[in-house]
Amino acid sequence: MQHERGSEVGQWWWDPDSRRLRIEPDRQASLDEIGGVWTLDSLGVVLDGLSRSRLARMFDMAHAPNQEVACALGLSTGRAVRLVGAFGQNGRASGRLFRAPGPELSQQAGPGPDLDAVFQPIVSLVTGHVAGFEALARWDGESPEDHSGDPSMDEGALAQNMLIRASEALATWCRARPERSIFVNVNLTGRDLASDDLPNLVEALISSHGFEPGQLRIELTEQAALRDAGEAIRVARALKEVGAGVVLDDFGSGHSSFSWLAALPADGLKIDPELTRQIEERKVRVILETVTLLASRLGMSATAEGIEDLKQISLLRSLGFHYAQGFAFSHPVSAAQALNLLDP
Ligand code: C2E
Ligand code: CA
Ligand code: CA
Repeated sequence: MQHERGSEVGQWWWDPDSRRLRIEPDRQASLDEIGGVWTLDSLGVVLDGLSRSRLARMFDMAHAPNQEVACALGLSTGRAVRLVGAFGQNGRASGRLFRAPGPELSQQAGPGPDLDAVFQPIVSLVTGHVAGFEALARWDGESPEDHSGDPSMDEGALAQNMLIRASEALATWCRARPERSIFVNVNLTGRDLASDDLPNLVEALISSHGFEPGQLRIELTEQAALRDAGEAIRVARALKEVGAGVVLDDFGSGHSSFSWLAALPADGLKIDPELTRQIEERKVRVILETVTLLASRLGMSATAEGIEDLKQISLLRSLGFHYAQGFAFSHPVSAAQALNLLDP
């Protein structure tokens, strides 16, 4: 998947020992937001989630000296850059920074047929059954464990593709299990929200498949608000009006705030794994219990994400969580395998 590189706008260096990425944009490039020395986690403040995980996968792969690097990154401001370079000795890498050609990612050509949707179950802590799934993007048949792809940069077409594929999967599950009310969550970015067509597409999918309100849900992070909060909230309202659910993702991570929570017409909160990982600490348990209470008082569900240990389940239930998701239940699987995870 070769793209025009665009214009050169700076340099970058990766240090595997400190796991830090130094980015130096040229002064005239007006890309100050990504200048500096970053951990991959801290880059979440300026990159969308997909770009951050793509970058982490690339640096975590085994690489030979001279192996080329080419990684597309979408910034939360809606702009896009590309890291191009090569690995040197001992896992170090460096290269040049390019501004992606074209004003917006979403105006480029669509991702190829190598895009796939996988589904990770979300389990109800009340019934113990799978209640729904989160749709996650994969490329080139890459398995959930093997993140080797260097995907296309077009996230506008990605959003449409994922919405269509997730809706088709949901329709299949509903036909197979008409007695169950299953939901599917699709991740969208701030850039996706800026597309005028989005509520129309969501409305068309809901009405053509005959979904009930809230069966198709949109996951948003506060990244969506960084681009244009007013626009993000307006589109979130439009999505709700056409019958979609809205879920606030990564709540409690570096970039989530109460004002965003207050403004967003959300039905649910997904709590960042960073917090649930520390569930053994009393203070963290108090915070989690307060967050689930806050969610309930606001009429929202609370989902614990990234749960790897089944031993945490009863504690999560006692802290007031409604749903849990993570490797403890299942890795993301194909739509067909997902059907088998719906209990009898
Ligand atoms: P996210 O929305 O927070 O998605 C959850 C991520 O955590 C997924 O990684 C999932 O595979 C992983 N995960 C689930 N359970 C566990 C667990 O128990 N332990 C650990 N360590 N990880 C777990 P994935 O699929 O690599 O996705 C990473 C991020 O990429 C997502 O974070 C989301 O921000 C973004 N992303 C994925 N698919 C899409 C998409 O279709 N559209 C957009 N815009 N973003 C997407
Ligand atoms: Ca998500
Ligand atoms: Ca999340």
